[in-house]
Amino acid sequence: MLKFDPTRCDGCGLCEKSCPFGAITVVYDLAEANELCNLCGACVNVCPRKAITLERKQASAEELARYRGVFIWAECESSHDGLIPRKVAYELLTRGRALADRLGEDLVAVVLGGERLTSIESLAHHGADRIIRAGHSLLDSYTTDGFAHVLAGIIAKERPSIFLFGATPNGRDLAPRIAARLKLGLTADCTSLDIDESGQLLQTRPAFGGNIMASIITPCSRPQMATVRPNVFRAGHGDQGRPVRMEEFPVKLNKAVIRTRIDEKIGVGGSLCERIDEARVIVAAGRGCREPANLDMLRELAGKLGGVLAGSRSIVELGWIPHTLQVGQSGATVAPDLYVAVGISGAVQHIAGMSSSKYIVAINKDPDAPILGIADLAIVGDALEVVPKLLDQLRWRPGI
Ligand SMILES: Cc1cc2nc3c(=O)[nH]c(=O)nc-3n(C[C@H](O)[C@H](O)[C@H](O)COP(=O)(O)OP(=O)(O)OC[C@H]3O[C@@H](n4cnc5c(N)ncnc54)[C@H](O)[C@@H]3O)c2cc1C
Repeated sequence: MLKFDPTRCDGCGLCEKSCPFGAITVVYDLAEANELCNLCGACVNVCPRKAITLERKQASAEELARYRGVFIWAECESSHDGLIPRKVAYELLTRGRALADRLGEDLVAVVLGGERLTSIESLAHHGADRIIRAGHSLLDSYTTDGFAHVLAGIIAKERPSIFLFGATPNGRDLAPRIAARLKLGLTADCTSLDIDESGQLLQTRPAFGGNIMASIITPCSRPQMATVRPNVFRAGHGDQGRPVRMEEFPVKLNKAVIRTRIDEKIGVGGSLCERIDEARVIVAAGRGCREPANLDMLRELAGKLGGVLAGSRSIVELGWIPHTLQVGQSGATVAPDLYVAVGISGAVQHIAGMSSSKYIVAINKDPDAPILGIADLAIVGDALEVVPKLLDQLRWRPGI
Protein backbone atom coordinates (compact mmCIF):
# COMPACT_ATOMS: atom_id res chain seq x y z
CA MET A 1 0.00 0.00 0.00
CA LEU A 2 1.26 3.50 -0.90
CA LYS A 3 0.94 6.11 1.88
CA PHE A 4 1.36 9.88 1.55
CA ASP A 5 2.22 11.82 4.69
CA PRO A 6 0.13 15.05 4.48
CA THR A 7 2.43 16.78 6.98
CA ARG A 8 5.38 16.34 4.62
CA CYS A 9 3.84 16.43 1.10
CA ASP A 10 3.87 19.94 -0.40
CA GLY A 11 2.26 18.90 -3.69
CA CYS A 12 5.44 19.49 -5.76
CA GLY A 13 4.23 16.91 -8.33
CA LEU A 14 7.57 15.11 -8.82
CA CYS A 15 5.93 11.79 -7.91
CA GLU A 16 3.16 12.40 -10.44
CA LYS A 17 5.74 12.99 -13.18
CA SER A 18 7.87 9.98 -12.20
CA CYS A 19 5.01 7.48 -12.14
CA PRO A 20 5.23 5.30 -15.31
CA PHE A 21 1.60 4.20 -14.90
CA GLY A 22 -0.17 7.53 -14.45
CA ALA A 23 -1.26 6.29 -11.03
CA ILE A 24 -0.61 9.46 -9.00
CA THR A 25 -2.45 12.78 -9.08
CA VAL A 26 -1.84 15.87 -6.99
CA VAL A 27 -5.08 17.31 -5.66
CA TYR A 28 -5.00 20.48 -3.53
CA ASP A 29 -1.26 20.17 -2.88
CA LEU A 30 -1.51 16.56 -1.77
CA ALA A 31 -0.54 13.54 -3.85
CA GLU A 32 -2.77 10.49 -3.98
CA ALA A 33 -2.63 7.14 -5.77
CA ASN A 34 -5.40 5.64 -7.87
CA GLU A 35 -6.26 2.07 -8.86
CA LEU A 36 -3.53 2.01 -11.55
CA CYS A 37 -0.85 1.89 -8.83
CA ASN A 38 1.00 -1.45 -8.89
CA LEU A 39 3.34 -0.60 -6.02
CA CYS A 40 6.42 -0.36 -8.25
CA GLY A 41 7.92 2.20 -5.83
CA ALA A 42 9.27 4.58 -8.50
CA CYS A 43 7.69 7.56 -6.69
CA VAL A 44 9.20 6.74 -3.30
CA ASN A 45 12.76 7.51 -4.32
CA VAL A 46 12.00 10.77 -6.14
CA CYS A 47 10.13 12.47 -3.28
CA PRO A 48 12.51 15.12 -1.87
CA ARG A 49 10.47 15.41 1.36
CA LYS A 50 10.30 11.67 2.10
CA ALA A 51 6.52 11.93 2.21
CA ILE A 52 5.79 8.61 0.48
CA THR A 53 6.10 5.18 2.06
CA LEU A 54 5.41 1.82 0.51
CA GLU A 55 4.01 -0.87 2.74
CA ARG A 56 3.92 -4.31 1.22
CA LYS A 57 1.81 -7.03 2.76
CA GLN A 58 4.42 -9.57 3.70
CA ALA A 59 3.57 -13.05 4.90
CA SER A 60 5.32 -14.14 8.08
CA ALA A 61 7.80 -17.03 8.07
CA GLU A 62 5.17 -19.18 9.82
CA GLU A 63 2.59 -18.38 7.15
CA LEU A 64 5.05 -19.19 4.35
CA ALA A 65 6.00 -22.47 6.04
CA ARG A 66 2.38 -23.64 5.75
CA TYR A 67 2.87 -23.93 1.99
CA ARG A 68 4.54 -27.21 1.05
CA GLY A 69 5.14 -29.26 -2.08
CA VAL A 70 6.56 -28.69 -5.54
CA PHE A 71 3.65 -28.82 -7.98
CA ILE A 72 3.75 -28.92 -11.75
CA TRP A 73 0.96 -28.58 -14.25
CA ALA A 74 1.27 -31.69 -16.43
CA GLU A 75 -0.06 -30.23 -19.67
CA CYS A 76 -1.63 -32.83 -21.96
CA GLU A 77 -2.18 -33.02 -25.69
CA SER A 78 -4.42 -35.06 -27.94
CA SER A 79 -3.18 -38.35 -29.33
CA HIS A 80 -4.88 -41.38 -30.90
CA ASP A 81 -5.28 -42.89 -27.43
CA GLY A 82 -6.72 -39.76 -25.83
CA LEU A 83 -5.01 -37.01 -23.86
CA ILE A 84 -1.38 -37.76 -23.00
CA PRO A 85 1.17 -35.64 -21.07
CA ARG A 86 3.36 -33.38 -23.19
CA LYS A 87 7.15 -33.75 -23.16
CA VAL A 88 7.52 -30.55 -21.14
CA ALA A 89 5.62 -32.21 -18.27
CA TYR A 90 8.39 -34.80 -17.93
CA GLU A 91 11.05 -32.08 -18.11
CA LEU A 92 9.34 -30.16 -15.29
CA LEU A 93 9.06 -33.35 -13.24
CA THR A 94 12.75 -34.12 -13.68
CA ARG A 95 13.79 -30.65 -12.47
CA GLY A 96 10.96 -30.54 -9.92
CA ARG A 97 12.23 -33.82 -8.41
CA ALA A 98 15.62 -32.23 -7.70
CA LEU A 99 13.96 -29.13 -6.18
CA ALA A 100 11.60 -31.22 -4.03
CA ASP A 101 14.50 -33.35 -2.77
CA ARG A 102 16.43 -30.19 -1.82
CA LEU A 103 13.40 -28.94 0.14
CA GLY A 104 12.41 -32.34 1.55
CA GLU A 105 8.91 -31.93 0.09
CA ASP A 106 6.62 -33.93 -2.20
CA LEU A 107 6.58 -33.55 -5.96
CA VAL A 108 3.02 -33.38 -7.25
CA ALA A 109 1.76 -33.52 -10.86
CA VAL A 110 -1.61 -31.93 -11.55
CA VAL A 111 -3.50 -33.24 -14.58
CA LEU A 112 -6.65 -31.71 -16.00
CA GLY A 113 -8.81 -33.54 -18.50
CA GLY A 114 -11.91 -35.64 -19.00
CA GLU A 115 -12.50 -39.30 -19.59
CA ARG A 116 -9.95 -39.51 -22.39
CA LEU A 117 -6.91 -39.06 -20.10
CA THR A 118 -4.31 -41.81 -20.59
CA SER A 119 -0.67 -42.60 -19.69
CA ILE A 120 -0.74 -40.49 -16.55
CA GLU A 121 1.05 -43.20 -14.58
CA SER A 122 4.15 -42.24 -16.61
CA LEU A 123 4.21 -39.03 -14.53
CA ALA A 124 4.92 -41.16 -11.48
CA HIS A 125 7.75 -42.92 -13.31
CA HIS A 126 9.31 -39.50 -13.86
CA GLY A 127 9.33 -38.56 -10.20
CA ALA A 128 5.85 -37.54 -9.02
CA ASP A 129 5.01 -38.64 -5.45
CA ARG A 130 1.38 -37.66 -5.96
CA ILE A 131 -0.79 -37.19 -9.03
CA ILE A 132 -3.86 -35.01 -8.63
CA ARG A 133 -6.33 -35.58 -11.40
CA ALA A 134 -9.09 -33.09 -12.05
CA GLY A 135 -11.45 -34.84 -14.44
CA HIS A 136 -14.33 -33.12 -16.20
CA SER A 137 -15.61 -33.21 -19.76
CA LEU A 138 -15.27 -29.40 -19.95
CA LEU A 139 -11.51 -29.83 -19.40
CA ASP A 140 -10.91 -32.06 -22.43
CA SER A 141 -9.98 -29.05 -24.53
CA TYR A 142 -7.94 -26.20 -23.12
CA THR A 143 -9.78 -23.02 -22.22
CA THR A 144 -8.27 -20.18 -20.20
CA ASP A 145 -11.33 -19.76 -17.99
CA GLY A 146 -11.95 -23.44 -17.28
CA PHE A 147 -8.33 -24.33 -16.54
CA ALA A 148 -7.65 -21.17 -14.50
CA HIS A 149 -10.79 -21.79 -12.44
CA VAL A 150 -9.86 -25.37 -11.58
CA LEU A 151 -6.12 -24.85 -11.05
CA ALA A 152 -6.71 -21.81 -8.83
CA GLY A 153 -9.04 -24.02 -6.75
CA ILE A 154 -6.38 -26.72 -6.46
CA ILE A 155 -3.73 -24.18 -5.42
CA ALA A 156 -6.04 -22.64 -2.81
CA LYS A 157 -6.79 -26.07 -1.34
CA GLU A 158 -3.34 -27.66 -1.56
CA ARG A 159 -1.17 -24.60 -0.70
CA PRO A 160 1.98 -25.64 -2.63
CA SER A 161 5.27 -23.80 -2.02
CA ILE A 162 6.19 -23.91 -5.72
CA PHE A 163 3.98 -24.19 -8.83
CA LEU A 164 5.59 -24.67 -12.25
CA PHE A 165 4.10 -24.43 -15.75
CA GLY A 166 5.72 -25.15 -19.11
CA ALA A 167 6.20 -21.92 -21.08
CA THR A 168 4.12 -23.37 -23.90
CA PRO A 169 1.44 -21.22 -25.55
CA ASN A 170 -1.16 -22.57 -23.11
CA GLY A 171 1.17 -22.36 -20.10
CA ARG A 172 2.01 -18.75 -20.96
CA ASP A 173 -1.69 -18.01 -21.19
CA LEU A 174 -2.73 -19.82 -18.02
CA ALA A 175 -0.03 -19.00 -15.45
CA PRO A 176 -0.47 -15.19 -15.46
CA ARG A 177 -4.24 -15.58 -15.27
CA ILE A 178 -3.90 -17.71 -12.11
CA ALA A 179 -1.22 -15.41 -10.65
CA ALA A 180 -3.51 -12.40 -11.08
CA ARG A 181 -6.49 -14.27 -9.65
CA LEU A 182 -4.58 -15.34 -6.52
CA LYS A 183 -2.61 -12.04 -6.31
CA LEU A 184 0.73 -13.82 -6.69
CA GLY A 185 3.96 -13.03 -8.52
CA LEU A 186 5.06 -14.97 -11.59
CA THR A 187 8.43 -15.33 -13.28
CA ALA A 188 7.82 -16.05 -16.95
CA ASP A 189 10.02 -18.04 -19.31
CA CYS A 190 12.66 -19.33 -16.87
CA THR A 191 15.73 -21.05 -18.25
CA SER A 192 17.07 -22.26 -14.91
CA LEU A 193 15.61 -23.10 -11.47
CA ASP A 194 17.40 -23.70 -8.21
CA ILE A 195 16.95 -23.46 -4.44
CA ASP A 196 19.10 -20.97 -2.52
CA GLU A 197 20.51 -21.51 0.96
CA SER A 198 17.39 -20.03 2.59
CA GLY A 199 15.08 -22.38 0.67
CA GLN A 200 13.80 -19.78 -1.83
CA LEU A 201 13.23 -20.74 -5.45
CA LEU A 202 15.79 -19.02 -7.67
CA GLN A 203 14.02 -18.33 -10.95
CA THR A 204 16.49 -17.36 -13.66
CA ARG A 205 15.47 -15.91 -17.00
CA PRO A 206 16.88 -13.62 -19.71
CA ALA A 207 16.01 -9.97 -19.06
CA PHE A 208 16.35 -6.66 -20.92
CA GLY A 209 16.03 -8.26 -24.36
CA GLY A 210 18.30 -11.15 -23.40
CA ASN A 211 21.25 -8.94 -22.48
CA ILE A 212 21.42 -10.12 -18.86
CA MET A 213 20.30 -13.21 -16.96
CA ALA A 214 18.21 -12.21 -13.92
CA SER A 215 17.70 -14.48 -10.90
CA ILE A 216 14.38 -13.64 -9.28
CA ILE A 217 13.06 -14.72 -5.87
CA THR A 218 9.56 -14.51 -4.42
CA PRO A 219 10.16 -13.90 -0.70
CA CYS A 220 6.76 -12.47 0.27
CA SER A 221 4.12 -14.80 -1.14
CA ARG A 222 3.38 -18.44 -1.86
CA PRO A 223 3.31 -20.39 -4.08
CA GLN A 224 6.37 -19.25 -5.96
CA MET A 225 5.13 -19.48 -9.55
CA ALA A 226 7.16 -19.76 -12.73
CA THR A 227 6.79 -20.79 -16.33
CA VAL A 228 9.74 -22.77 -17.70
CA ARG A 229 10.89 -22.94 -21.29
CA PRO A 230 10.47 -26.34 -22.92
CA ASN A 231 13.76 -28.14 -23.60
CA VAL A 232 15.93 -26.33 -21.06
CA PHE A 233 15.76 -29.37 -18.76
CA ARG A 234 16.20 -32.84 -20.17
CA ALA A 235 13.54 -35.33 -19.09
CA GLY A 236 14.96 -38.31 -17.17
CA HIS A 237 14.44 -41.89 -18.33
CA GLY A 238 11.84 -42.72 -15.70
CA ASP A 239 11.61 -45.45 -13.10
CA GLN A 240 8.67 -47.83 -13.53
CA GLY A 241 8.79 -48.99 -9.90
CA ARG A 242 8.13 -45.65 -8.19
CA PRO A 243 5.13 -45.69 -5.83
CA VAL A 244 2.59 -42.90 -6.32
CA ARG A 245 -0.58 -41.64 -4.67
CA MET A 246 -3.40 -41.04 -7.14
CA GLU A 247 -5.94 -38.47 -6.01
CA GLU A 248 -9.09 -37.04 -7.56
CA PHE A 249 -9.86 -33.34 -7.21
CA PRO A 250 -13.64 -32.80 -7.18
CA VAL A 251 -14.22 -30.37 -10.04
CA LYS A 252 -17.07 -27.90 -9.81
CA LEU A 253 -17.31 -26.37 -13.24
CA ASN A 254 -20.18 -25.32 -15.42
CA LYS A 255 -20.36 -23.93 -18.92
CA ALA A 256 -21.13 -20.42 -17.67
CA VAL A 257 -17.59 -20.10 -16.25
CA ILE A 258 -16.07 -20.59 -19.71
CA ARG A 259 -16.51 -17.51 -21.83
CA THR A 260 -14.93 -18.92 -24.99
CA ARG A 261 -15.90 -21.77 -27.26
CA ILE A 262 -13.60 -23.71 -29.62
CA ASP A 263 -15.37 -24.11 -32.95
CA GLU A 264 -12.42 -25.20 -35.07
CA LYS A 265 -8.65 -25.53 -34.79
CA ILE A 266 -6.68 -24.14 -37.73
CA GLY A 267 -2.93 -23.79 -38.33
CA VAL A 268 -1.29 -20.41 -38.81
CA GLY A 269 0.48 -20.13 -42.16
CA GLY A 270 -0.12 -23.69 -43.38
CA SER A 271 3.00 -25.84 -43.02
CA LEU A 272 4.76 -23.05 -41.10
CA CYS A 273 2.70 -23.84 -38.04
CA GLU A 274 4.83 -26.89 -37.16
CA ARG A 275 5.83 -27.04 -33.51
CA ILE A 276 9.58 -26.91 -33.17
CA ASP A 277 9.94 -27.44 -29.42
CA GLU A 278 9.15 -31.15 -29.60
CA ALA A 279 10.54 -31.90 -33.08
CA ARG A 280 13.07 -34.74 -33.35
CA VAL A 281 14.64 -33.26 -36.50
CA ILE A 282 15.03 -29.56 -37.25
CA VAL A 283 16.43 -27.98 -40.40
CA ALA A 284 17.22 -24.38 -39.47
CA ALA A 285 17.82 -21.63 -42.00
CA GLY A 286 19.92 -18.51 -41.57
CA ARG A 287 20.57 -15.35 -43.50
CA GLY A 288 23.11 -17.32 -45.59
CA CYS A 289 20.15 -18.89 -47.41
CA ARG A 290 20.01 -15.57 -49.28
CA GLU A 291 16.29 -15.37 -50.13
CA PRO A 292 12.97 -16.78 -48.91
CA ALA A 293 12.41 -18.86 -52.07
CA ASN A 294 15.46 -20.94 -51.11
CA LEU A 295 13.65 -22.07 -47.98
CA ASP A 296 11.58 -24.42 -50.17
CA MET A 297 14.49 -26.81 -50.56
CA LEU A 298 15.14 -26.68 -46.80
CA ARG A 299 11.48 -27.44 -46.17
CA GLU A 300 11.83 -30.40 -48.55
CA LEU A 301 14.94 -31.56 -46.70
CA ALA A 302 13.12 -31.25 -43.38
CA GLY A 303 10.20 -33.25 -44.79
CA LYS A 304 12.51 -36.03 -46.07
CA LEU A 305 14.15 -36.28 -42.66
CA GLY A 306 10.79 -36.33 -40.86
CA GLY A 307 11.44 -32.94 -39.33
CA VAL A 308 10.37 -29.31 -39.39
CA LEU A 309 11.78 -26.02 -40.62
CA ALA A 310 13.03 -23.37 -38.18
CA GLY A 311 15.45 -20.45 -38.40
CA SER A 312 17.63 -17.76 -36.88
CA ARG A 313 16.39 -14.40 -35.65
CA SER A 314 17.81 -12.71 -38.75
CA ILE A 315 15.37 -14.45 -41.05
CA VAL A 316 12.51 -13.85 -38.64
CA GLU A 317 13.34 -10.14 -38.77
CA LEU A 318 13.46 -10.36 -42.56
CA GLY A 319 9.92 -11.77 -42.44
CA TRP A 320 10.83 -15.10 -44.05
CA ILE A 321 9.40 -17.19 -41.18
CA PRO A 322 7.21 -16.35 -38.17
CA HIS A 323 8.70 -15.80 -34.71
CA THR A 324 7.20 -19.11 -33.51
CA LEU A 325 9.91 -20.81 -35.60
CA GLN A 326 12.84 -18.80 -34.22
CA VAL A 327 15.50 -20.77 -32.36
CA GLY A 328 17.61 -19.06 -29.72
CA GLN A 329 17.71 -16.96 -26.61
CA SER A 330 14.78 -14.77 -27.62
CA GLY A 331 13.03 -17.59 -29.48
CA ALA A 332 12.50 -21.26 -28.70
CA THR A 333 14.93 -23.59 -26.96
CA VAL A 334 15.05 -26.85 -28.88
CA ALA A 335 16.71 -30.21 -28.26
CA PRO A 336 16.11 -32.42 -31.31
CA ASP A 337 18.03 -35.57 -32.17
CA LEU A 338 19.27 -33.88 -35.35
CA TYR A 339 19.76 -30.15 -35.94
CA VAL A 340 20.84 -29.08 -39.42
CA ALA A 341 21.98 -25.43 -39.43
CA VAL A 342 22.09 -24.01 -42.94
CA GLY A 343 23.70 -20.60 -43.54
CA ILE A 344 23.66 -19.76 -39.83
CA SER A 345 26.75 -18.09 -38.34
CA GLY A 346 26.31 -19.48 -34.80
CA ALA A 347 25.98 -16.33 -32.68
CA VAL A 348 25.87 -17.04 -28.93
CA GLN A 349 22.20 -16.09 -28.83
CA HIS A 350 21.42 -18.72 -31.47
CA ILE A 351 23.58 -21.42 -29.90
CA ALA A 352 21.86 -20.81 -26.53
CA GLY A 353 18.70 -22.23 -28.06
CA MET A 354 20.01 -25.34 -29.81
CA SER A 355 23.24 -26.50 -28.17
CA SER A 356 21.43 -29.36 -26.40
CA SER A 357 20.67 -30.98 -29.78
CA LYS A 358 22.02 -34.54 -29.89
CA TYR A 359 23.64 -34.31 -33.31
CA ILE A 360 24.45 -31.04 -35.07
CA VAL A 361 25.18 -30.71 -38.79
CA ALA A 362 26.22 -27.25 -40.00
CA ILE A 363 26.56 -26.02 -43.57
CA ASN A 364 28.41 -22.72 -43.95
CA LYS A 365 30.67 -21.30 -46.62
CA ASP A 366 32.88 -19.58 -44.04
CA PRO A 367 35.30 -22.11 -42.46
CA ASP A 368 35.62 -19.82 -39.41
CA ALA A 369 31.88 -19.59 -38.68
CA PRO A 370 31.34 -20.38 -34.96
CA ILE A 371 28.53 -22.84 -35.73
CA LEU A 372 31.07 -25.16 -37.36
CA GLY A 373 32.98 -25.27 -34.06
CA ILE A 374 30.07 -26.90 -32.20
CA ALA A 375 28.92 -29.13 -35.09
CA ASP A 376 29.35 -32.90 -35.07
CA LEU A 377 29.49 -32.69 -38.85
CA ALA A 378 30.75 -29.44 -40.38
CA ILE A 379 30.25 -28.96 -44.11
CA VAL A 380 32.15 -25.98 -45.56
CA GLY A 381 30.42 -24.98 -48.75
CA ASP A 382 27.68 -23.00 -50.43
CA ALA A 383 24.33 -24.08 -48.97
CA LEU A 384 22.67 -23.57 -52.34
CA GLU A 385 24.94 -26.30 -53.77
CA VAL A 386 25.19 -28.60 -50.74
CA VAL A 387 21.47 -28.87 -49.92
CA PRO A 388 20.42 -30.01 -53.45
CA LYS A 389 23.15 -32.66 -53.28
CA LEU A 390 21.83 -33.87 -49.92
CA LEU A 391 18.33 -34.03 -51.38
CA ASP A 392 19.65 -36.05 -54.33
CA GLN A 393 21.27 -38.51 -51.94
CA LEU A 394 18.05 -38.84 -49.98
CA ARG A 395 16.03 -39.44 -53.17
CA TRP A 396 18.15 -42.52 -53.78
CA ARG A 397 17.22 -43.93 -50.40
CA PRO A 398 13.57 -44.89 -50.62
CA GLY A 399 13.41 -45.89 -46.94
CA ILE A 400 14.15 -42.33 -45.81
C1 LIG B 1 19.46 -9.76 -27.12
C2 LIG B 1 19.61 -10.56 -28.39
C3 LIG B 1 18.87 -11.72 -28.55
C4 LIG B 1 19.01 -12.49 -29.71
N1 LIG B 1 18.28 -13.62 -29.86
C5 LIG B 1 18.50 -14.41 -30.93
C6 LIG B 1 17.80 -15.65 -31.09
O1 LIG B 1 16.95 -16.01 -30.28
N2 LIG B 1 18.08 -16.39 -32.18
C7 LIG B 1 18.99 -16.04 -33.12
O2 LIG B 1 19.20 -16.77 -34.09
N3 LIG B 1 19.64 -14.86 -33.01
C8 LIG B 1 19.41 -14.04 -31.96
N4 LIG B 1 20.04 -12.85 -31.88
C9 LIG B 1 20.81 -12.38 -33.07
C10 LIG B 1 22.18 -12.99 -33.17
O3 LIG B 1 23.11 -12.23 -32.44
C11 LIG B 1 22.64 -13.04 -34.65
O4 LIG B 1 22.57 -11.74 -35.18
C12 LIG B 1 21.80 -13.96 -35.53
O5 LIG B 1 21.68 -15.24 -34.94
C13 LIG B 1 22.47 -14.11 -36.89
O6 LIG B 1 21.66 -14.85 -37.75
P1 LIG B 1 22.29 -15.65 -38.98
O7 LIG B 1 23.32 -16.57 -38.45
O8 LIG B 1 21.15 -16.21 -39.74
O9 LIG B 1 22.90 -14.49 -39.88
P2 LIG B 1 24.37 -14.02 -40.09
O10 LIG B 1 25.04 -13.71 -38.81
O11 LIG B 1 24.31 -12.94 -41.09
O12 LIG B 1 25.13 -15.29 -40.69
C14 LIG B 1 24.91 -15.79 -41.97
C15 LIG B 1 25.88 -16.95 -42.13
O13 LIG B 1 25.62 -17.55 -43.36
C16 LIG B 1 26.85 -17.86 -43.99
N5 LIG B 1 26.59 -17.87 -45.43
C17 LIG B 1 26.38 -16.82 -46.26
N6 LIG B 1 26.09 -17.24 -47.50
C18 LIG B 1 26.12 -18.60 -47.44
C19 LIG B 1 25.91 -19.60 -48.38
N7 LIG B 1 25.59 -19.34 -49.68
N8 LIG B 1 26.04 -20.90 -47.99
C20 LIG B 1 26.38 -21.19 -46.73
N9 LIG B 1 26.59 -20.28 -45.80
C21 LIG B 1 26.45 -19.00 -46.13
C22 LIG B 1 27.80 -16.78 -43.55
O14 LIG B 1 29.14 -17.26 -43.62
C23 LIG B 1 27.35 -16.54 -42.12
O15 LIG B 1 28.07 -17.36 -41.22
C24 LIG B 1 19.92 -12.07 -30.73
C25 LIG B 1 20.66 -10.91 -30.55
C26 LIG B 1 20.51 -10.16 -29.40
C27 LIG B 1 21.33 -8.91 -29.22
